[in-house]
Amino acid sequence: MAKQSQFKLAGREECPEDTHVRIGPVVVGGERVVVIAGPCAIESREQALSIAREVKKYGATLFRGGAFKPRSSPYSFQGLGEEGLKILAEVREETGMPVVTEITSPTQAEAMMAHVDVLQIGARNMQNYELLKCVGRLDRPVLLKRGLSATIEEWLMSAEYILSEGNGQVVLCERGIRTFEPYTRNTLDLSAIPVVRKLTHLPIVVDPSHATGIREKVAPMARAAIAAGADGVMIEVHNNPDEALSDGPQSLLPDQFAELMRDIYVIAPVIDKQLDFHWLEKAKMVAEVGDSKESGSARTAFFGELGSFGHKACMQHFGDKMTPMPGRSYAQVFEDVKSGAVDFGVVPLMNSLSGSVYQNYDLLLENDLKIVGEITLRTAHHLIAAAGMTVCDVKRVFSHPDVFQQCGQFLDLNESWELVATRDAAMAVRQVKERSQAGDAAIASSDAAEIHGLTIIKKGIDTSARNYTRFVVVAREPLTNRECTKSSLVYSVPDEPGTLEGTLRLFAESGVNMVKLESRHVDGKPWEYMFYVDVEADLASDKLKPVMAELESRTEYLKILGSY
Ligand code: PEP
Ligand code: MN
Repeated sequence: MAKQSQFKLAGREECPEDTHVRIGPVVVGGERVVVIAGPCAIESREQALSIAREVKKYGATLFRGGAFKPRSSPYSFQGLGEEGLKILAEVREETGMPVVTEITSPTQAEAMMAHVDVLQIGARNMQNYELLKCVGRLDRPVLLKRGLSATIEEWLMSAEYILSEGNGQVVLCERGIRTFEPYTRNTLDLSAIPVVRKLTHLPIVVDPSHATGIREKVAPMARAAIAAGADGVMIEVHNNPDEALSDGPQSLLPDQFAELMRDIYVIAPVIDKQLDFHWLEKAKMVAEVGDSKESGSARTAFFGELGSFGHKACMQHFGDKMTPMPGRSYAQVFEDVKSGAVDFGVVPLMNSLSGSVYQNYDLLLENDLKIVGEITLRTAHHLIAAAGMTVCDVKRVFSHPDVFQQCGQFLDLNESWELVATRDAAMAVRQVKERSQAGDAAIASSDAAEIHGLTIIKKGIDTSARNYTRFVVVAREPLTNRECTKSSLVYSVPDEPGTLEGTLRLFAESGVNMVKLESRHVDGKPWEYMFYVDVEADLASDKLKPVMAELESRTEYLKILGSY
């Protein structure tokens, strides 16, 4: 087995931090899962464009399609060649998705550089050293597939070839290896993910399509790859797989791809990641806002310090081109968005263990801001202290009161501990670090531990592992004119029998699904209530205008908080 030091450039020793490979607005290796999708081969302009529109709609951020196809038989379709590259460039122009295609010979380099964003080295060429050296000299990200029967060491050595020529933008792609098992085309080596993670700083994506060769096996393996920590997946999708010129039997139909994306959206937060359905649209918006600013970047306020979950929500929602701005309070976040000091604010509304964050419901009512997005994080808490300390040494624990509540069961087992409330959990970690006193510990996120150089001495101490927090993003104006999928509103009804029920029936009768109803007392007006409602519909759409007009006539107060 290779020693890590054999990988002089690809090894973690050389570069301990994860490499983020940038492909236009897309980052492979960050906290957002990258989905590369498209047909095996570009067959025509119409085929490529129609599949591209579908996969983009369902959440893909990069488009794939072969123009030079390395087929097992010389009599099979060999690809459209340069014509295919031009079609790929057109797909990028129309959809905004950067495009990935396989380079099979150094003679194609010039045409590739003219038309495509990522150069794929196919499994059959993983040890074509002249080709590796060629892409190593090009200024373009490379997707390096694992060879049909390559060991992980051989694969990383091939990456080393590319890196040693000066191109550090390499993404590894596990696509299954040859084994004695004939039930699938190849055997998907998912254990390569944690192995590679430890050995190298390069990101890794998984291609379950070529790994299994069978449509129905693709989604389960894609879900498993994300759960195992892959930075992304590459999925073959075809709108007419029965007629596909290559790899039809393993291609998902667009609907199946849509379903898989929804599953990945749910799985990703469990392992601290996100699938962002609006990645490209948001990246464009963040860049435009940034361009209009003297500082050159858009800014988002959150309550807490760096390393708080508000900070994480901001970065996962907007990406690393957004400047996160720590704020002193939730009220300050709203104030800063209103005054224009920042462009956006991110605030929590609900935690699955400690319930609603009422202060932010009130601030939404008081301030004329719009909800323009939402993001849910798994907000797992850990006991954090100086290295060398154990749980038995703890005497004092610092954190936010809501966090104490979310970790109630664990804290009840340690009744002698003194609990010290702080304004936010990341601040607790900083205080423990600064005080540097024996017996001090904090409860916060792993990010906060890392930022302040402290150690997690007990992982996952929340009472339920299903600890999720829903954040909303607020702005001065609505962000998009695309049809939104969700809306939030707040209203009050006359104090008469059946008035609330009447308003709820309006939604039901229009086929609008309600996903949240929360009543909140009105300050200083005993027994008067505001109803906060979330629905799965775009209340600003023409279709719902009559419903909204009717709702207005039945309410005493009505405010649309936003559609997103
Ligand atoms: C492909 O991605 O279309 C392809 C040919 O893959 P592999 O090189 O992994 O067989
Ligand atoms: Mn293929």
